[in-house]
Amino acid sequence: MPLPAPVSDLLDLVLPSACPGCGGPGQLCHSCHAQLAVPPTRAAPDPVPDGLPPCLAIGEYTGVLRDLVLAYKERGRRGLARPLGAALAPAAAWLAQGGPVLLTPVPSTRAAIRSRWMDHTALLARSAAATLRSAGYEAGVSRLLRALPRPDSAGLSATERATAAAAAYQLRAGPGTARPPGPVVLLDDVLTTGSTLAAVAHRLRSVDIEICGAIVLAATRRRRGVIGEAQAETP
Ligand SMILES: [Zn+2]
Repeated sequence: MPLPAPVSDLLDLVLPSACPGCGGPGQLCHSCHAQLAVPPTRAAPDPVPDGLPPCLAIGEYTGVLRDLVLAYKERGRRGLARPLGAALAPAAAWLAQGGPVLLTPVPSTRAAIRSRWMDHTALLARSAAATLRSAGYEAGVSRLLRALPRPDSAGLSATERATAAAAAYQLRAGPGTARPPGPVVLLDDVLTTGSTLAAVAHRLRSVDIEICGAIVLAATRRRRGVIGEAQAETP
């Protein structure tokens, strides 16, 4: 289990951590940070699940990018939310095609948020939106869904699994969950089979919320087919 964020932040102040990308001294080093500054690429699992929106990734889930994702998500390096979220901003801007960028993070269950001491996709979305706003874009975060614990899906058919996955996401109510004024961009950490993003897309479309695409930090190599580079505007 990662350390509570305040404790890990304090430890970083006392003794700066190693770079999570290469193990060098200090925080995220210039060389590893520079690897995030790449044009987003289209990514698609094989097979593509029904309803999966177009997906853009920073890159393959391998090497430095994989190390950074794991350090952020599983090892409590919360400070990586800023550079990783910022790296997602060009892909989000490209998908929104000049319109307002409304980011909807794929939610984690309460138990997962507790064990990580953070809502890691929400933090990425906030960072990406802040980067976009600082570049003059209209951007915001709509946390529209919450995730329920999923029952064991062993023995279910693919269709039954998809139905169960969609049922695991519920629309949130309350402040900050107003219906978005336009299409949203989904945000998740890693694209593997695409079933999570397809389930979330299905849930949102069931209440007539439009989706212009999804952005992820990384896509697994085995299932990733690079279709081509998106011509992203770099904010
Ligand atoms: Zn490094």
